[in-house]
Amino acid sequence: MEFIDLKRQQNRIKFKIDESIQKVLEHGKYILGPEVFELEDELSKFVKSTHCITCSSGTDALLMSLMALRVGKGDAIFTSPFTFIASADVISFLGATPFFVDIDESSFNIDPKKIEPKNNEVVKMGNLIPKAILCVDMLGLPADYISIEKITKKNGLFLIEDAAQSFGASIGIRKACSFGDLACTSFFPAKPLGCYGDGGAIFTNNGEIAQKLISIRSHGQGKHKNDNVIQGINGRMDTIQASILKVKLSIFEDELKKRNLIAEKYTVRLKEKFLIPKSPNGFQTSWAQYSILTENRNQRDKIQRELMQKGIPTSIYYPMPLHLQKMFWDLGYKKGDFPVAEDISSKILSLPMSPYLNDEEIDFVCNALINGNF
Ligand SMILES: *Cc1c(COP(=O)(O)O)cnc(C)c1O
Repeated sequence: MEFIDLKRQQNRIKFKIDESIQKVLEHGKYILGPEVFELEDELSKFVKSTHCITCSSGTDALLMSLMALRVGKGDAIFTSPFTFIASADVISFLGATPFFVDIDESSFNIDPKKIEPKNNEVVKMGNLIPKAILCVDMLGLPADYISIEKITKKNGLFLIEDAAQSFGASIGIRKACSFGDLACTSFFPAKPLGCYGDGGAIFTNNGEIAQKLISIRSHGQGKHKNDNVIQGINGRMDTIQASILKVKLSIFEDELKKRNLIAEKYTVRLKEKFLIPKSPNGFQTSWAQYSILTENRNQRDKIQRELMQKGIPTSIYYPMPLHLQKMFWDLGYKKGDFPVAEDISSKILSLPMSPYLNDEEIDFVCNALINGNF
């Protein structure tokens, strides 16, 4: 059994993928070919966002977004300590300072109640300017944007949605990737919508920001090729990846439905014995991961070992919160600073998840979890 099975998906659409790669090889426009712009149109329709700018990865999507907002030295950016390193290393890469805000114990997303106290702390310190919240949709579940949008408006902060894991999720009729001033997603192969390499996209309803991003993506290009007007990078998505994503996007809604059914099956079987994921009313996750909470680190590690012996791969997202990572030691955080993030990191365990898990496999995983002597 695979943790995330990409082969079955490939078998379903292999003919179309081959055909679409072949088309790119024929026209030869490998950089910013027509498929890139067709994909951007389709993605912005899906998300219901005015502009979509595809790019080279989810990390570059975050980096370019911060660059478009002119984030740099002297800026404080609030983010979650319970996320993939990319959500914070792009902040320090630009010379700005990440400020972690602890998470909510049931959504694993930034706790809106804790943002304003942190913001006031930074204002009081006086040496940094609070500039933005980089808010992560952990494991596929959108953060509480209803509350967070009020906080960013009131405090004059920009809002960036890190929707790397939540493409396809929603709150009511609003889709993930449509929140904040800018929203970023990733098409890393293991994400809900993945390509066959690295890829990402940025969404915004702000035309000015969109124009800036198009320029940043091509070395800060101005009106023509040798006219460079702002600091940029090489942040483009390959045409071949765009052509693959177009095919994958055409079956994505169906895959989301399948993920939901699988999650329901896991939940029905596992809810008696484990803490299972719960979405708040009106929130729909993309099920990037299906994660249970065990009682403690020892039990979690024992379960993981025993499942592995039975041939069931599991994974831990994320075993070490960011404030304890060596990279951020100079920020002066210590163990105990973000108790919820630390606690969840020690108990969480993600189970195999893909739209193509079958009933026998789900049963096999659930039986191992329910009948195990943990
Ligand atoms: C995967 C991920 C990223 C980075 O995406 P890449 O495409 O791998 O660069 C950023 N943030 C979160 C929360 C992620 O899960």
